[in-house]
Amino acid sequence: MKKNILLIHTGGTISMQMNTQTGGVILSPANPLSLEIDKIQQFANITEFEVFNLPSPHVTPEKMNHLKNVLLNHTENTTFDGIVITHGTDTLEETAYFLELSTNLSIPVVITGAMRSSNEIGADGVYNLMSAVRVAASEEAVDKGVLVVLNDEIHTATNVTKTHSSSVATFQSPQYGPIGIVTKSAIHFHHAPITRFHYPVKHIDKKVAMFKIYAGMESDLLHSIINLGYHGVVLEGLGQGNVPPAMIPGIQNLLDVNIPVILVSRCFNGIAQDIYAYEGGGKMLKDLGVRFEHGLSGQKARLKLLLELCAIN
Ligand code: ASP
Repeated sequence: MKKNILLIHTGGTISMQMNTQTGGVILSPANPLSLEIDKIQQFANITEFEVFNLPSPHVTPEKMNHLKNVLLNHTENTTFDGIVITHGTDTLEETAYFLELSTNLSIPVVITGAMRSSNEIGADGVYNLMSAVRVAASEEAVDKGVLVVLNDEIHTATNVTKTHSSSVATFQSPQYGPIGIVTKSAIHFHHAPITRFHYPVKHIDKKVAMFKIYAGMESDLLHSIINLGYHGVVLEGLGQGNVPPAMIPGIQNLLDVNIPVILVSRCFNGIAQDIYAYEGGGKMLKDLGVRFEHGLSGQKARLKLLLELCAIN
């Protein structure tokens, strides 16, 4: 029997068109994907819905929270077997991880996008949408958390990242790889997530800053975030999790006023650890009270801290 899938559009290139005169890619008033729904209906009964129509650099945590509320409302009173969300690829991984942390659904939630707009040669939108619907309708996708499906690969929201500015093979999970693949005839999962976190949030009423650490960085930017009213900060540290010594007063200052400081590595493979005991080294940072977030990118660690701070107690 065909599954019932809720298809939610949020914008992005997958819903855009190229202006053939100027070559610029623009928002399309009528979603070009809706014209292709007949091709997708063979895999599932689709109910379509547009939450917003935005380029994904315009998507904020507040918008993600709105999307989360729509998701929860629709799954509470209805009997959808799965959800597919179309989204711009620039911040797709962040919306996916936001939903991973803030919803706790066992039905599949699959996010997809496209690197080429609907009327470009080699447009990948309809194909990715079809793959996402097939994954969302698959029994094996149940209880796997929020998934990202593009280019025949299935990734977890936790590990996936956009690795190339224009290639259709842009979404990868460095160090971990995809957890499944989409073939012409089947959906194959070969891994499953072990650990999942859940932060029930109502409102986004906190601010978390993030800095990529660079050689010679000082404390001034860290000092400034106290006055700017930030509630937490994520540092993408050097190597295994180290910072220049001139940042120590700034870090100490934040910890003194109970602003959590989270450390990840700016390397996209490996994890931040408390190894080096020199001034600014990971061991010293740990002793000061810096928290290590193992294996997350800076942008994911930032969302995790934001949701932790906003979570309903
Ligand atoms: N800039 C676009 C966006 O994220 C890129 C895309 O969707 O592929 O909205």
